[in-house]
Amino acid sequence: MFGRGPKKSDNTRYYEILGVSKNASPEDLKKAYKKAAIKNHPDKGGDPEKFKELAHAYEVLSDPEKREIYDQFGEDALKEGMGGGGPAHDPFDIFQSFFGGSPFGGGSSRGRRQRRGEDVVHPLKVSLEDLYLGTSKKLSLSRNVICSKCNGKGSKSGNSTKCGGCGGSGMKVSIRHLGPSMIQQMQHPCNECKGTGEIISDKDRCPQCKGEKVVLEKKVLEVIVEKGMQNGQKITFPGEADEAPDTVTGDIVFVLQQKEHPKFKRKGEDLFFEHTLSLTEALCGFQFVLTHLDGRQLLIKTNPGEVVKPDSFKAINEEGMPLYQRPFMKGKLYIHFTVDFPDFLTPDQIKALEAVLPPRPLSQMTDMELDECEETTLHDVNIEEEMRRKQQQAQQEAYDEDEEVHGGAQRVQCAQQ
Ligand SMILES: [Zn+2]
Ligand SMILES: [Zn+2]
Repeated sequence: MFGRGPKKSDNTRYYEILGVSKNASPEDLKKAYKKAAIKNHPDKGGDPEKFKELAHAYEVLSDPEKREIYDQFGEDALKEGMGGGGPAHDPFDIFQSFFGGSPFGGGSSRGRRQRRGEDVVHPLKVSLEDLYLGTSKKLSLSRNVICSKCNGKGSKSGNSTKCGGCGGSGMKVSIRHLGPSMIQQMQHPCNECKGTGEIISDKDRCPQCKGEKVVLEKKVLEVIVEKGMQNGQKITFPGEADEAPDTVTGDIVFVLQQKEHPKFKRKGEDLFFEHTLSLTEALCGFQFVLTHLDGRQLLIKTNPGEVVKPDSFKAINEEGMPLYQRPFMKGKLYIHFTVDFPDFLTPDQIKALEAVLPPRPLSQMTDMELDECEETTLHDVNIEEEMRRKQQQAQQEAYDEDEEVHGGAQRVQCAQQ
């Protein structure tokens, strides 16, 4: 079905991890994952790496589309699909979604997990060519990382003292008296420790991070834009956002923003191209060269004797956008034809055309009958413009009428008083 595809890589390992055969049913997969995940859960002293692998293998094999790609092309094909970012999901989230809570009771596994840092979202402008051909973009970002000198303690000794101002909570409560029996309580971050709940003495402060626990680091991320990706699609770098002590680092997420293309428009897997023909080309045939997004020159031509009508479409198969994660399959390239009619013809041209074109429909009317008709004049119009104006006018009139009714009612009321 896929024809020529990428090179095959290992496509049995995930089955081995779950301990099932290659033709295991979704039910078999579920059972195998459930058993193994409970056995290897870190909360039960299991190996976190093994637990992660199980979740990832199950994530792939339980998704029919991903499983098909895996069976056909193996792990590497999926890694490419995930923007090189490896497992896309938190193994704990997969575990939780599977059991709908902790199987060990009390929801403790979630509660013990650390606070999660915020994700950082960046828009990433790409051209239609980038999405057609695929590309990689190196981006330099700066982010906070845990200070390596003090391991995020902020102090040389690794000690800190509880802030006296807030008792270590990081928050202070102030009370305002609003009246004899009314008070207002307000909570705000402690000003003495800046909300951290602890104080590091000046002498003990880490010289590298100045007690901030984190330092700024410049990092270059390579974003792989794959063939067939869509406007708005997200590429995630798990755990690459700002680090902070006692926090699970959030993700950096790039959101693709496709720039308008001067020639091509994209709709899903298809491309649309506008082309204007002269009347002669529309009637007598044409050929032209269309430069595709990858620079290939396509020769577009009519079949002999074929007439192209104004506002018509023709399609070329397999010349649209490559499909995401199946780039060897492509959508269609639609060409929309506009025909440029001449504004005016000379009497000689009319005579020449009448000689070759199909004859006009014969008028059944006699000269006498024609004499009884009234003469008219045809004017040029911009029909859209005129219709819009008329609609606006109708709305204004409806509004005016409303006003009048309302005003009238008031007058009646006044008279009654
Ligand atoms: Zn404090
Ligand atoms: Zn430090």
